[in-house]
Amino acid sequence: APARHVTARVAPLGARLVLALVEDRTRERRVEAVRRDFVANVSHELKTPVGAIRLLAEAVHDAADDPEAVKRFSDRMLTESDRLSRLVQQVIELSRLQGDEPLDAPIPVDIDEVIKIAVDTSAIDADAKRISVVTGGTPHLEVFGNEEQVTAAVANLVANAVSYSDCDATVLVSTKADDDMVEISVVDQGIGIPAGEIDRIFERFYRVDPARHRSTGGTGLGLSIVKHVAATHGGDVRVWSVEGQGSTFTLTLPRHSSAPRTQEAGR
Ligand code: ADP
Repeated sequence: APARHVTARVAPLGARLVLALVEDRTRERRVEAVRRDFVANVSHELKTPVGAIRLLAEAVHDAADDPEAVKRFSDRMLTESDRLSRLVQQVIELSRLQGDEPLDAPIPVDIDEVIKIAVDTSAIDADAKRISVVTGGTPHLEVFGNEEQVTAAVANLVANAVSYSDCDATVLVSTKADDDMVEISVVDQGIGIPAGEIDRIFERFYRVDPARHRSTGGTGLGLSIVKHVAATHGGDVRVWSVEGQGSTFTLTLPRHSSAPRTQEAGR
């Protein structure tokens, strides 16, 4: 708060040190609370698929002489174990990103390649719903960052666009840039996000009305991964959405430009 800021500036050195220490402790405690919360949530979220798989295994065991039931139960086991492995994968990604520390060794990352991998990752789901994923905009852009993280972020946005669209829809992935930043936008014509929920979708494990789209088997972690990737890169992620009409997510990341930026900078 501004008032506190002024106090800190006029306070004598000793008081300033105390204030800094208190702020440090407060931050430490907050980080610790977030971490504890996360571990509790993860344990809770892991128990659901593990419990389901266990029950289904018992059901398969008991239904040994009913081939149709065996098939039904084992299909559901497959779905649950896919969800479980997605969850574990995302928890690992997220725990690596927790601190929002700036990247220590950013390198140029080819965005065409990132988008290609992201689109390929969703290809099976998109094909199953006859969704065409179209790419466009400025080609050959590079961002300055971590390839794995940027790919995970874009892949999450594309996967969501496919998950939350109806059959036969189109998803557009487009790029543009100015001197400093690259924008990657993922546009869908899907179910959209209610205005009252939009502030919460980047929170861990938050899902808009899970019953509305239980079948997507989401984890509620995808967008928090995107948010942390944006933060570690010094970029951001924004969303525009109209319920029932579609959503646009735009990830902005620092640009790597091999050419001198402007005449002045070159001189
Ligand atoms: P999930 O694994 O549930 O998709 P995310 O963190 O990626 O988790 O997204 C959080 C929630 O935001 C989703 O459960 C969904 O309700 C909403 N959401 C995300 N992307 C979209 C989208 N493109 N269209 C509509 N709703 C979306």
